[in-house]
Amino acid sequence: MSHGIPETDGTHETNEITLARLPSGVALTTTTHTYRGAEEGPTLYVQAAQHGREINGTETLRRFHERLPLESLSGTVVAVPVANPLTFDRVSYTTPEQLDSVNANMNRIWPGDAGGSLHQRMAARLWEEISQADAVIDLHTGSPDMLPHTVYQEGDTRSRRLAEAFGIDLLLSEEADDDASDEWHRRGFAGKLRVAAANEGIPSITPELAHNKQIVEDVVDEGVDGLLDVCRYLGMLPGEIPERDLTVARNHLGQVTATTAGLFRPKPSLEVGQEITAGTPIGTVYDPTTYEPLHEAVADRNGILYALTQEATVVGGDQLASVALIREE
Ligand SMILES: [Zn+2]
Repeated sequence: MSHGIPETDGTHETNEITLARLPSGVALTTTTHTYRGAEEGPTLYVQAAQHGREINGTETLRRFHERLPLESLSGTVVAVPVANPLTFDRVSYTTPEQLDSVNANMNRIWPGDAGGSLHQRMAARLWEEISQADAVIDLHTGSPDMLPHTVYQEGDTRSRRLAEAFGIDLLLSEEADDDASDEWHRRGFAGKLRVAAANEGIPSITPELAHNKQIVEDVVDEGVDGLLDVCRYLGMLPGEIPERDLTVARNHLGQVTATTAGLFRPKPSLEVGQEITAGTPIGTVYDPTTYEPLHEAVADRNGILYALTQEATVVGGDQLASVALIREE
């Protein structure tokens, strides 16, 4: 809308984009927000809720919308609050097989394929925006028993700087590709958005903001602060980011798992965030009918306990705890 007066305030616009077509012919759409600063600058892409029950990212983007000082912005922020409407509506992590029999988990198929399965098509449409970006933030949440943290690719300095700017205390570095474990490959982690973006040379991080299904106020605030600090770090907003003393740990995939089915009682004195040593008791899996203890679970290494399962009914192989190795600097 030009009236002959130069724009100095920056602009915000929303667009409804079509991610894919459902079997019924209904278009699967979502809304993107584009914030354009009056000055030139980098492009930051942020999305939330590709795992639809992980709604803290969506709430973070709503508050970011309220707090972003558009008049001070240089460059462009593209935000997608609901990247996956299918899982959002189901309050789920995955999409039913009827809609995507190739991969129920959208975060395993990036950068997508415009001629592929439903998730691949959705990702390919979003990738059109992502591939233009200078930095990518993919907002997720963990389980109720997981410490908020930010994941970046081991050895990728620019992604690490982005994670530091975001500022959630615990940083977890994850190895990728040739450096990664068999488990990493087996679980299809190469298809995560963060990994696909890093492979294209775009620094990218995955903040895990508290837990799913509930809005967790303080962590959402940290998420908004993190996005604004990333904008400052990228030179898109004025101001400096604070000096921070963040804990850096290596994400390890081999969690402590239940050896058998039963009820798991985590050791009440344990809290996520504490440092523990190999052999520390984590809790007990017992037979709920006879009360017989079946598995005394212990930590398998020294590190930071960053997840401890609170959902008590478990089967063999279920995750009981995650311990991240503290990185040698
Ligand atoms: Zn997720």
